[in-house]
Amino acid sequence: MAPTLLYPYHAKYMFRRLQRAAQTEEYPLKITRIDALHVTIPMTSPFRKAGRVQNDADNALVRIETDDGLVGWGEAAAAPLLTGDTGARIMASIEFLAEILIGEDPRSIASLHARLSDAMAQNESAVCAIDMALYDIAGKHLGVPAYALIGGRSRTALPPSLGVNADPADAAKAAEWKARGVQAFKAKVSVADPAYEKDALRQIRDAIGPDTEFAIDANGAWKPAEALAFLDDVAELNLAFCEQPIAPGNLSRLRSVAERSPVPIYTDESFNEPADLIAHAEAGVAGVSMKTIKMGGITGFMSAAYLARLLRLGVNVAGKSATSSIGGSAMLQISTALPEMSGGIGLSNHKLTEDLVKDPVGLADGVLTAPEGAGLGVDVDETVVERFVQRRSTVTE
Ligand SMILES: [Mg+2]
Repeated sequence: MAPTLLYPYHAKYMFRRLQRAAQTEEYPLKITRIDALHVTIPMTSPFRKAGRVQNDADNALVRIETDDGLVGWGEAAAAPLLTGDTGARIMASIEFLAEILIGEDPRSIASLHARLSDAMAQNESAVCAIDMALYDIAGKHLGVPAYALIGGRSRTALPPSLGVNADPADAAKAAEWKARGVQAFKAKVSVADPAYEKDALRQIRDAIGPDTEFAIDANGAWKPAEALAFLDDVAELNLAFCEQPIAPGNLSRLRSVAERSPVPIYTDESFNEPADLIAHAEAGVAGVSMKTIKMGGITGFMSAAYLARLLRLGVNVAGKSATSSIGGSAMLQISTALPEMSGGIGLSNHKLTEDLVKDPVGLADGVLTAPEGAGLGVDVDETVVERFVQRRSTVTE
């Protein structure tokens, strides 16, 4: 038989053998080096929302290396108003947790996730970056995309979403992005005068058409009466949901808004850990904005999403306003595997002046898919990363 015919069989056989050996002493694998990096990357234009104007991505990266040369990358974005984290703070937490990882098998993701989560309170962003890097390594080791390790494929084409401002100037931008394939829009509100914003939302709705998914996010800036007055006035705009209309911390007030609102209510800032889902379901919210930095990476996200499904809560796969293709790919891997999700996927790597990978994630010919390469499927350009590093620390065996 010709070698060309033998090869596919041989490759398949070797792959199966590798899979069987993957978690055994027959094929040991251990973490030998962890780099925690704080990076700041300028954004193409300032990002405005209630309480904050953001000019840079202020992120932490982790680079994990194994004894056989496999390298995995993870990322977590600063979210001072959400998690309380800055890039420097996440980096310091990764440094603290690195001692747990050294010498361990990077494929023992569930066990490492539990140990990391137990080692430090409120460290979800640091665990998020590390968890992503472990999936990157495990996928590369097995030759499969990360989504194959978290439930397989539920969909191929993912619905892209774009964040816009409640500003008439963004109506034309929204129409342009819709023509390029964006299927869902989310506008930040409660930043400017309500009448100005309501008018802007009408103009954006006109620009994207009556049936395109359109949601708003108030980032907790309204009082309950202000929220209800605003939502009553935009009820005819067929909004998919209003995210975090009032400040977090008082679920009975949230319930009063959720019960009266003509627009379904989602939460973000008041939803910080998977256990919060139960109280939120009882408060009558329709769904949550779920982020890897809040849930502790891919592992935490998937377990929270399954709990949300049991509670009949919608899950919007949300990212931070400035994340490179590393974190962006993790969102796409999750979105490919989730059996149900609501809203679109808002990548933000295009808002950075420079991405950190050679082939950025995003719309290609109007279609959004997860990278098919092994692990996170992104090829990190370390020379580009180097240019944005504020501080780096390395832990080795
Ligand atoms: Mg939000």
